[in-house]
Amino acid sequence: MKQHEQMPLVALARGEGPWLYDVDNKRYLDAISSWWVNLFGHANPTINAAIKEQLDTLEHAMLAGCTHQPVIELSERLGALTGGVLGHAFYASDGASAVEIALKMSSHYWRNRGQPEKNEYVCLANSYHGETIGALGVTDVKLFRDAYAPLVRGAHVVASPDARGALRGESAADVAQRALLSVRDLFEVRSAQIAAIIVEPLVQCAGGMAMHDASYLSGLRELCDHYHVHLIADEIAVGCGRTGTFFACEQAGIWPDLLCLSKGLSGGYLPLSVVLTRDGIYQAFYHDETTRGFLHSHSYTGNPLACRAALATLDLFHSGKVLENNRNKSATLSKYLEPLMAHPNVKNFRQCGTIFAFDVLVGGEDAASLFAQRFFEIGLRHELLIRPIGQTVYFMPPYVLSDSDLELLAWRTRSTLEYVLHMFD
Ligand SMILES: *Cc1c(COP(=O)(O)O)cnc(C)c1O
Repeated sequence: MKQHEQMPLVALARGEGPWLYDVDNKRYLDAISSWWVNLFGHANPTINAAIKEQLDTLEHAMLAGCTHQPVIELSERLGALTGGVLGHAFYASDGASAVEIALKMSSHYWRNRGQPEKNEYVCLANSYHGETIGALGVTDVKLFRDAYAPLVRGAHVVASPDARGALRGESAADVAQRALLSVRDLFEVRSAQIAAIIVEPLVQCAGGMAMHDASYLSGLRELCDHYHVHLIADEIAVGCGRTGTFFACEQAGIWPDLLCLSKGLSGGYLPLSVVLTRDGIYQAFYHDETTRGFLHSHSYTGNPLACRAALATLDLFHSGKVLENNRNKSATLSKYLEPLMAHPNVKNFRQCGTIFAFDVLVGGEDAASLFAQRFFEIGLRHELLIRPIGQTVYFMPPYVLSDSDLELLAWRTRSTLEYVLHMFD
């Protein structure tokens, strides 16, 4: 709050497509989809209509002992998108609780199977899986963890396959193979105690849009099968088409044992998350004894309005060539970004689906957080809503940018960067 004395909050009044408007009717291009949730623009007519209809039908009812059409239909459609492999769905309201569910479900599975000692977790260096206490245990971002470290039960941390870590002559696939060795070494000595490894497939988003080769995921699948460890794919940020396929795991040709979705799932409208899982895991809980069942509940689990927003979002995927159009939009944006990529202070330009990122060389102590703050502030003056992560500038825009929006995004980012770099001269 103290920082906001210098930098007032942006008081938003309304949204339309990729644009947000403040109370003075100044507009901002939502280049980060309001923290990666919005897919088809603000005030999307299709999603609005679906929610309005649902509102007059059933706004909410508890999901314990009850069910309703939106949650059934959503479960069926999500399961179908995995070819039926992940045919069971467990709902919650936000990303962090989906992660909690996946972690709990994994160790409870091993307990039900007579291996209660398998209750440790593995996460990747620089991983982010949410900020509740369980999710922080598998999050390796210092900023979010340090103050709460005494409350958190830590996980084993293995090397990140971040392609920027390539040694001379190494490809992204080589980095992935090297990172897999650290997983294998750990599994070799510890798999009897390890329940699961959790990964953000293809892009470690909050850790600074660190991208890795898809072969890391197929390698991880093999190791998990060999050592009997669950693979949890946290697709909360990268799911729903962000990386170019509906699920990021599709690019590695694998399915995890547990898959978390949230953020874009409801199109960015309402809090909703889900953990999809396999029949083999479901069966371990299928029993007369209540305590063998999976124990986890939230008041708003499977909220019908949120499920209806998710169904309308899936309809939008279904009715348009969304993934194909996104490929074209990303190619267009890459072209517009060429001058920016050539800038001497810009390095590690990277892209995966509709996620774009680059690192900015700017010197001095504490430069990273100051850079991010100034970039956000100067971006607003250029009609951009952009929040760098330290010195990493990224775009993760809604899927509805027009050609002129894409051009504006590239050019205004360049002007913002020039302006901010001058402030550090
Ligand atoms: C945002 C995010 C979460 C947490 O989701 P919340 O809804 O903010 O709790 C978990 N994992 C990943 C990969 C995320 O990007």
